[in-house]
Amino acid sequence: MKILIADDDPVIRKQLELSLSKNGYEVIQCKNGLEGLEIAKSIDSPSLMLFDWSMPGLTGLELCKQIRTFKREPEPYILLLTSKNDTNDVIEGLDSGANDYITKPFYPHELQARLKIGLKSIKLQLELIKARNMLAIEANHDYLTGILNRRAVMKAFELEIERYKRDDKSSSLALFDLDFFKKVNDTYGHVVGDEVLCEITKKTSSVLRPYDSFGRYGGEEFLLILPDCNEEETYIICERIRKLIYDSKINTSVGLISVSISVGACVFSSNKNCSIEELVKIADDNLYEAKEQGRNCVRFSKF
Ligand code: GH3
Ligand code: MG
Ligand code: MG
Repeated sequence: MKILIADDDPVIRKQLELSLSKNGYEVIQCKNGLEGLEIAKSIDSPSLMLFDWSMPGLTGLELCKQIRTFKREPEPYILLLTSKNDTNDVIEGLDSGANDYITKPFYPHELQARLKIGLKSIKLQLELIKARNMLAIEANHDYLTGILNRRAVMKAFELEIERYKRDDKSSSLALFDLDFFKKVNDTYGHVVGDEVLCEITKKTSSVLRPYDSFGRYGGEEFLLILPDCNEEETYIICERIRKLIYDSKINTSVGLISVSISVGACVFSSNKNCSIEELVKIADDNLYEAKEQGRNCVRFSKF
């Protein structure tokens, strides 16, 4: 574990370095508050910090206050090292954003014990951050296929519309639905049906551009947001996906299965004010038309 120490007294710095490195810490030291601030600003700055209260340039207190404005994750655990032990001084030190303080001359065992509390606090924060990030991923992704869920892909669509209003370009959205998917479930079972859905998302993802968004709209229906696409480009991408799914059979636990999709797309431009609902409705109408006209085809229109 890395620890940042800032103290203008070279004797104390040496003492700290010996004691800390003996206990497994990787010590990064600096001789005043300003140097400490520079290190604290860097991306890989240590989460554990030990600052002398009185230093030229920037005191340990001022350094704490500045670091707390960075809003880092995890929040650094800051221990102040001070010869002041008056209650008012302690209150002032903790008010500045320090987590704890230790008075000089310090006992190495006490310092280690207090740093252990800091380590625990950082570990706990890291666990909470990880759990929160996992929850955010789960909230935005489809549990079966791992691609965006309906809420997240609609959000991506909203952002695209906002961005696009400024850029004055045309973009498109496409809805596609598996043809006769009920028959796949009825013939091979629901588990194999799930495998087909997963394989189809993999195949589709493999031909998308990095800035396209792809999500499960519901059941066996998927939504694609294709930024900066005119009618021709929209057709090419949709047709490429349709063909890829139809031409290459889907690998499942019961062998290769043939499936096809029908695609309905809507190309939209900035000179018309349109709501997300309207655009989805147009794509859905085109999808319905593709189904009506025999399935395994692409239908689109410009709004
Ligand atoms: P169409 O060509 O008109 O779209 O026919 P279809 O059979 O695909 O459409 P229908 O709406 O009749 O049936 C959709 C089927 O998709 C029924 C439903 O059980 C299945 N389905 C929806 N979600 C899932 C899923 O998560 N896993 C599996 N295995 N099947 C699903
Ligand atoms: Mg279907
Ligand atoms: Mg359907």
